[in-house]
Amino acid sequence: MEPLAPLPNFKIISPLVARLLAGNPGPFTMQGTNIYLIGCNDSRIMIDVGEGLDCFKDTFNTFIKQNNIKHISHIILTHSHHDHVAGLQSLLSDPNLANIFHNTIVYKIPTDTKHINNLTEAQKYAEIQVTIQIKTTVGHTKDHLCLYLHEENAFFSGDSVLGQNYSPVFENLRIFINSLTSNLNFLADKRSAVLYPSHGPVVENAYEAISKLIEHRNKRDCQIIECLRKAGGLAVLEIVDIIYKDYPESVKPAAANSIVQHLEKLIDENRVEKSGEKFLLVEIKEKL
Ligand SMILES: [Zn+2]
Repeated sequence: MEPLAPLPNFKIISPLVARLLAGNPGPFTMQGTNIYLIGCNDSRIMIDVGEGLDCFKDTFNTFIKQNNIKHISHIILTHSHHDHVAGLQSLLSDPNLANIFHNTIVYKIPTDTKHINNLTEAQKYAEIQVTIQIKTTVGHTKDHLCLYLHEENAFFSGDSVLGQNYSPVFENLRIFINSLTSNLNFLADKRSAVLYPSHGPVVENAYEAISKLIEHRNKRDCQIIECLRKAGGLAVLEIVDIIYKDYPESVKPAAANSIVQHLEKLIDENRVEKSGEKFLLVEIKEKL
């Protein structure tokens, strides 16, 4: 894996977009979660809020002072993972930030979370003169969304595509791939759109990044099918041992989870069947 590119605590990355780091680097969060502020006047939209760490509040305070930001009109949460949302209450209830978060409207795709407004697919934030389109992108989680900023042809991918060579995790691979395919179709006439991920640096071409991710997963499907075609029937760990033969033992539990997700997808697609512990190709069974 390529080493992580160093990212500054905050950076204005385009005329309408600034990126702030949540101060939570780690094996799953890479350089930390990216928080985005959108807009150019003294009121901004905030995408995700981080974990509520003091170091993020310092970053946030420094940035808003330097850029004369007086108000956050809306917060949009990409999904309910801890590193994206856990800091919400601590920001909203901080007496030192009472003016900044006065009457801020918080949006996310509804789950059972209370006191949060529902989102529709298209929202127009006229008061700060940007047009943001919401693209539901379930699969990473049930409530995951991406956003498209029309004025800058920019796609905020949340955790559906990461900024470096790391493949995102997913709760359901089949649903995840369907969501990615839907986003790819959405971007088909926006081929030069830039991608702003929730982890890692800016990716120049959103369409290409999403295509590559789908391709990578399709390739894994093909590898599994090839193994089953050769062997007739295999258990999960046998497939892992073949596909990940050059990898250290330590990656194999995570690899097994990924293979299970692929097998579930292939079963849903009626291409693979389970028989006891073994997985078989439907095409082979039909020939017998
Ligand atoms: Zn996530």
